[in-house]
Amino acid sequence: MGQKLGQHFLNSEEVAKFISDAAKLTGKETVVEVGPGKGMITKYLVKNAKKVIAIEKDESLKPHLKNIGAEIIYGDVLETGFPKCDIVVSNVPFYISSKLIFSLPKKPAVLGLQKEFAKKMVTLAGESGYGRLSVSSQIRFKLELLKSFPPTVFSPQPRVWLSVIRLEPNMWEEFIKCEDFIRRVFPYPNKTVDNALKFGGYTPCGIQKKVRELTPKDVIKLAHQYS
Ligand code: SAH
Repeated sequence: MGQKLGQHFLNSEEVAKFISDAAKLTGKETVVEVGPGKGMITKYLVKNAKKVIAIEKDESLKPHLKNIGAEIIYGDVLETGFPKCDIVVSNVPFYISSKLIFSLPKKPAVLGLQKEFAKKMVTLAGESGYGRLSVSSQIRFKLELLKSFPPTVFSPQPRVWLSVIRLEPNMWEEFIKCEDFIRRVFPYPNKTVDNALKFGGYTPCGIQKKVRELTPKDVIKLAHQYS
């Protein structure tokens, strides 16, 4: 059960506080927390926000969360979706990282993610590892990689490091228009744009550079051309 739900609980008050502080709360916000676990981060959020709504899949954590001062929704965030809020905070269960990123609302977020995954999100066009996750994340959000922590801040320890990242909505509306284009062209990062266009079912347009060299702005422009 624990492994299946990506349950690695923070044992470090310092890291829990770091994540909560990165949300820069002023007492006026409604925060949605995904996967509060035993409430390690939740208790700091409750102190600094107007309201905290936490979504937790594992009902056996009820005793830890009962008197914490947050409204708890027991369910799978990928099914419940996000209640109306000002900011999202989560030490994300790693196994849903990708799906969670793509289901975030147009709000700021502070997320604890597997280091490799967070690095992929911030990788720039042309650098190794740049792909669908990078371009999609960067069109939708401005990203700031804040700090990384070793596996020892968790019990049980995962194999990987944790990176805390802050997201601010960016070119949100543009993403909706180029989502399909990205899905069709970015599976081929190492092909020329022309070849990837062909594979993706589009008419080529004479671009010889590689897909992985397309910046978010290039992608928005191209997608617009093909819509
Ligand atoms: N935030 C806590 C727990 C992190 S572990 C801490 O930092 O200590 C991840 C938590 O997410 C676990 O409590 C797990 O039960 C919960 N979780 C896993 N999958 C989930 C899902 N799909 N929806 C909501 N919560 C989920």
